[in-house]
Amino acid sequence: MYHFESSVATYCRAFPANFTHARGSTLIDGEGREYLDFLSGCGSLNYGHNEPRLQDRLVDYIRGDGIAMSLDLHTDAKERFCTTFRKHILLPRDMDYKFMFTGPTGTNAVEAAIKIARKTTGRRNVISFTNAFHGCSLGALALTGSSSHRGNTNPIGDGVTRLPYDGYLGEGVDTADYLDKLLSDPSSGVDAPAAIILEAIQGEGGLNTASGPWLRKIQSIARAHGALLIVDDIQAGCGRSGTFFSFETMSVQPDIILLAKALSGFGLPMSMLLLTPSVDTLSPGEHNGTFRGNCHGFVTATAALEHFWSDSHFAEDLSGKIIQLTAQLDRIALRNGLQRKGRGMMQGLRFDDPKDALATRAQCYAQGLIVECCGPRDEVLKLLPPLTATRAQLTLACDIIETAVQSVLRPQLNEVA
Ligand SMILES: *Cc1c(COP(=O)(O)O)cnc(C)c1O
Repeated sequence: MYHFESSVATYCRAFPANFTHARGSTLIDGEGREYLDFLSGCGSLNYGHNEPRLQDRLVDYIRGDGIAMSLDLHTDAKERFCTTFRKHILLPRDMDYKFMFTGPTGTNAVEAAIKIARKTTGRRNVISFTNAFHGCSLGALALTGSSSHRGNTNPIGDGVTRLPYDGYLGEGVDTADYLDKLLSDPSSGVDAPAAIILEAIQGEGGLNTASGPWLRKIQSIARAHGALLIVDDIQAGCGRSGTFFSFETMSVQPDIILLAKALSGFGLPMSMLLLTPSVDTLSPGEHNGTFRGNCHGFVTATAALEHFWSDSHFAEDLSGKIIQLTAQLDRIALRNGLQRKGRGMMQGLRFDDPKDALATRAQCYAQGLIVECCGPRDEVLKLLPPLTATRAQLTLACDIIETAVQSVLRPQLNEVA
């Protein structure tokens, strides 16, 4: 820790090296030590660090006096991004959405979505779910489950109703039915909602996944009760789940989709809302911000869409790697009494005792693998490899993890060996 930096800094405590360079899945520190980066800027680096084709495009753009700052003026960079996103992402999926650019972080997009839902419906209440994470600015924080982020001074009560996520009450309890009942009963004490916001895979909340049937039921409840469905795909989107959107194979058509983290493809700050035309209800300037749309982000995002999403090669290779990773984690889970969680390239291992997850994280770091923990008590070791990580890198990471798990859970066994 730098003595002059606020005590709020966090990742640098778990991984205290001073990093200087990075390429692909590898981070390098000032002493030349290499680390396999399976944190990837919390899933912002889906194509790894300094992806060479994205890097070239950005350098060329800057050297060619391309516009860096434009507020929301029309720029060539923005137009190309919008055209490319429509061509490679929306049209092939038969999706019709308008783009809205906010300030560059995910939490900005969440704030804007809530504003839009409240204006569109004339209602205030927003339904969010247990273990949800939607960001740390005050409006988004009100939707976030985690008490450690909220502290005891930032209440959730402010126009938010919290309900159990899919599976929260165990198998056999359909929490969507409970939501439907609450909204159908004028005396339930839950106000008619402006929106229901959810993650299809809860990235921070412990890699809990929602099933297709549950998501479809939530969607029809939202429609029936006049609420917008907002899918926060900030972490699970842009390919992290194995498909571009985390819900795209589940017949779900959200009114608003939120993207940020990996959208620029290069780790540049950039976020976006996709709005069904009927919810595009804000008037010019009603939601504002100086840094809306990051031209450098537009340039690298466009390059990423062209290189990785213009045909099915990348997604096909990715699904092969996901099958491999899933099998490797299943094996570790089975041999060590852990539970595999998540799906796609956001999977992890749940420990009974959170201390063991944190000890495993530390052991992995000592062996040159950067992996974080998530979940209500940090009990889930979470892998967020670049989607471009090689099969050999996935195997190496799993080997390091299994050795770490064994030394944490069965230290005596290791001494004998
Ligand atoms: C990271 C994240 C956010 C917040 O994004 P920031 O860029 O950190 O503000 C919101 N929702 C989800 C699901 C996230 O993972």
